[in-house]
Amino acid sequence: MSFDQELTARLDALQAQGLRRELRRVDSPPGPRLVLGGRTLLNFASNDYLGLAGHPALQAAAVRAVEEFGAGSGASRLICGSLAPHHELEEALAEFKGSEAALSFSSGYAAAVGTLGALLGKGDVVILDKLVHACIVDGARLSGATIRVCRHNDLDHLEAHLRWAVGRGGHTLVVTESVFSMDGDRAPLREIVELKDRHGAWLMVDEAHATGLFGPRRRGVAEELGVGERVEVQMGTLGKALGAAGGYIAGSRTLVDYLINRARSFIFSTAPVPAQAAAARAAVALIQSQEGAGLCARIWERVAQAQVGLSCTRQSSAIMPLRLGDEALAVTTAAELRERGLFVPAIRYPTVARGQARLRVTLGAAHSPQDIEALITALASVRGAPPAFAHPP
Ligand SMILES: *Cc1c(COP(=O)(O)O)cnc(C)c1O
Repeated sequence: MSFDQELTARLDALQAQGLRRELRRVDSPPGPRLVLGGRTLLNFASNDYLGLAGHPALQAAAVRAVEEFGAGSGASRLICGSLAPHHELEEALAEFKGSEAALSFSSGYAAAVGTLGALLGKGDVVILDKLVHACIVDGARLSGATIRVCRHNDLDHLEAHLRWAVGRGGHTLVVTESVFSMDGDRAPLREIVELKDRHGAWLMVDEAHATGLFGPRRRGVAEELGVGERVEVQMGTLGKALGAAGGYIAGSRTLVDYLINRARSFIFSTAPVPAQAAAARAAVALIQSQEGAGLCARIWERVAQAQVGLSCTRQSSAIMPLRLGDEALAVTTAAELRERGLFVPAIRYPTVARGQARLRVTLGAAHSPQDIEALITALASVRGAPPAFAHPP
């Protein structure tokens, strides 16, 4: 077989399993509506929770940064690409998160992979929740540490792994998300902090879906639960509620100094463009403002409206999984919703386990109450969909 024949056979195999994916070109700016294939659809797929991706303050900050610092960064941060906008972003992030220091990366993916690889090596143990994001799994694998996987949110299983890991000589790092990306449920963070402290392990929490949304200062779930200072490594993305792009690590000055020296995805990669850093910094300021508080209040109003309308389990996140199981059913149901003018993505393996396909609805502050009504009506009428959103056991 030729190279292309071999790859065609692999793609055909994906197709046969309902797992082949393709890009959809979007011809509109971020917002609750998107233009796809010439049609305008109501968008329930975006992670732009607070509607900041299209916010004038972020756009203006990006434009100013381009005018002042150019389109590109010119080099990696450690060579000559560590521009003023990167430093201003990191100062703002540390203040926002209430940490000694923060480091920004080109993406959340790069933050996870670089940090795990820097902190861990052969002889160490990393304990992951079964449902953590692919970037954490990839970082754990690359690090060379021994990986132990816990059943989702299972504290007894976590404790068993901690007991096993302790006394093996190396370090032990527990990694979890605070709000899980595909189920929208939360980790029992307070209990996890207690456990890792009791066993002398370190903890890294990925707040990708929580930064900007939870806690009195909207730092995330760790703040809401009052355990932020006990988490060694706080991670998040600047590309979801913060509306820009990039990833961050917040923690001690020593942690940040260490990552600057050891995180390969940080060291061996061109610095993010100045516009990206400047937009993210504007978002950090906005999140902390009165306007940010208002946007946050609005998203929880929309979530409450949807939860009542869909009679689904109450959970405090803006992610609602409609579990369908079968991959092909998820794809056809998503297609029916598109016919009705709604864009809701079908999430399949490898993003979730095989046989756990789902529609994943994400709500945003930019949705109107009428948009939520349209969602409720459309979901009630698509054939094959179960009557309610089911929460994982
Ligand atoms: C999106 C996401 C990431 C990756 O962040 P990017 O900035 O998109 O690379 C990491 N962890 C979780 C849980 C995510 O949902």
